[in-house]
Amino acid sequence: MDLPQTGILRDTFGRVANNLRISVTDRCNFRCRYCMPEEGMVWLDRRELLTYEEIARLVHVFAGLGIDKIRLTGGEPLMRRELHILVEKIARVPGIKDIALTTNGFFLAEQAVALYKAGLTRVTVSLDSLNPKVFATMVRRDYFHKVWAALEMIENLPLRPIKINVVIIRGVNDNEIENFARLARTKPFIVRFIEFMPIGSDDGWTIDKVFPTKEIIDRINSTGPELVPLEAHGVQPADRYRFEDGLGEIGFVSSVSEPFCSTCNRIRITSDGKLRTCLFSLHETDLKTMMRAGSTEEELREVISKGVWSKEEGHLINRPGFIRPERTMSQIGG
Ligand code: SAM
Ligand code: SF4
Repeated sequence: MDLPQTGILRDTFGRVANNLRISVTDRCNFRCRYCMPEEGMVWLDRRELLTYEEIARLVHVFAGLGIDKIRLTGGEPLMRRELHILVEKIARVPGIKDIALTTNGFFLAEQAVALYKAGLTRVTVSLDSLNPKVFATMVRRDYFHKVWAALEMIENLPLRPIKINVVIIRGVNDNEIENFARLARTKPFIVRFIEFMPIGSDDGWTIDKVFPTKEIIDRINSTGPELVPLEAHGVQPADRYRFEDGLGEIGFVSSVSEPFCSTCNRIRITSDGKLRTCLFSLHETDLKTMMRAGSTEEELREVISKGVWSKEEGHLINRPGFIRPERTMSQIGG
């Protein structure tokens, strides 16, 4: 098959990418067990990180190729100084309709207003437990109250929807499924249960620690009012549900039990400027070196289009041939 027409990022399986996740740093002030080891992380030299100008230039190129949604992530994106300056630059790029942020919430309360004013539209906060002690065990930091205060604070801002990412690990926090379901019923939050993936964790991923979506749905339905489905898979990875009388929603990201690769519309840039077409990619395209060597927009467009064109069909988690990426989730950008 030939390369697709210009102005669109299509791959050989017919999928079109419009969603770009940009990691702005590999550093983090948490040490979530499923994401990175407690000690021994070696951070990138700051000169290796894309500058805000370089990121904005790339967003401009990607927008010309049909990207209209941006998500800033990391590492912990709010550890990057004055992130609102980057948000403002991205918001000015023609064609960008949506700028979201995924954060552990620690620095959110103090930065939320500046981010919103700069053009941020949505926030996802990771919160794996509603019990401060369990939370501290999972992220290896005693920061529950600070994250919860940030969630309460952003409820008063027009940043919508507010999503909460919860990684359920069997035997660790699965006894909180009902409490998170209640949260999605009583607060205007979208609680997203994410299946534990074999990437970056030093906590010994095994399939029996994964709590599959179907089991979570059965658990919720057997202990309270039944979930009402909102939509089937579209290009969204999460299946969405609500309660008849609920203020929020529940979403499921079933990356292990029911991968959504066939409809995936996402691509990623790591904080050191590598294009990845999948979280589990074994190949990267080095855009930073090209930019720093003076490549033109046309040259970048061509290399990006070719990179996306050869996007893999899907990941092979829990199937023969699966190879765990060398980088941790925080180094790739979750
Ligand atoms: N530091 C920010 C945060 O935690 O929200 C953004 C980066 S973090 C890598 C992005 C998301 O990846 C988080 O919601 C986190 O829970 C999720 N994550 C990290 N490691 C994971 C794993 N092994 N399995 C499933 N989700 C994981
Ligand atoms: Fe940090 Fe996010 Fe990884 Fe937790 S999941 S260690 S907060 S990057």
